[in-house]
Amino acid sequence: TERTFSIIKPDATERNLTGKINAVIEDAGLRIVAQRRIRMTDAQAKKFYEVHAERPFYGELVEFMTSGPVVVQVLEGDNAVARYREVMGATNPEQAADGTIRKLFAKNVGENSVHGSDSAENAKIEIAQFFTDDQIV
Ligand code: ATP
Ligand code: MG
Repeated sequence: TERTFSIIKPDATERNLTGKINAVIEDAGLRIVAQRRIRMTDAQAKKFYEVHAERPFYGELVEFMTSGPVVVQVLEGDNAVARYREVMGATNPEQAADGTIRKLFAKNVGENSVHGSDSAENAKIEIAQFFTDDQIV
C-alpha cells in the first residue's frame, strides 16, 4: 500500500464538485485517509509549485491556486501514486481519457480540477507540507 497527495483545485470547489470528485476517487479503490478544506496562502502555493518556478505559467498557477478554497487530501491504496494519476487523466482535459476526473470536470489545462503527486518521493514531501502524521488515519 502507498500514499499520494491530492488537491481539489479552486475551479472544482467553486462548482461544488468535491463530492463528485471524491466519489470517482473512492470508486477507483483509493481511500481518503486525510482531508481538509483550506484557503492556500500565496507563500504555500509558491512553495508547493516551486519546481515550476521557471515555467511561463508559474505566476498564473500560483494566482489560480490562491483564488478560492481547495481541498487537500491524502489518498491511500495499492500503487496510489500511479493509480491516482490514471484516475485524474492527462493534464490537458482535451487529452484526458473518458471517465477520468479531468475529462469529466476540468475546464482547461490550467483550471484542471485536481492535483496528484507524480512520484512516491514527492508524495511524502507534499503530504508533509499540509498534514502531520497523526492527522492521517
Ligand atoms: P498537477 O501537478 O497539478 O497534478 P500535472 O502533474 O498533470 O498536474 P504539471 O506539469 O505538474 O501537470 O503542471 C502543474 C499544473 O500547472 C497543472 O496541473 C496545471 O494546473 C498547470 N499547468 C500546466 N501546464 C500549463 C499550461 N500550459 N498553462 C497553464 N497552466 C498549466
Ligand atoms: Mg505535477
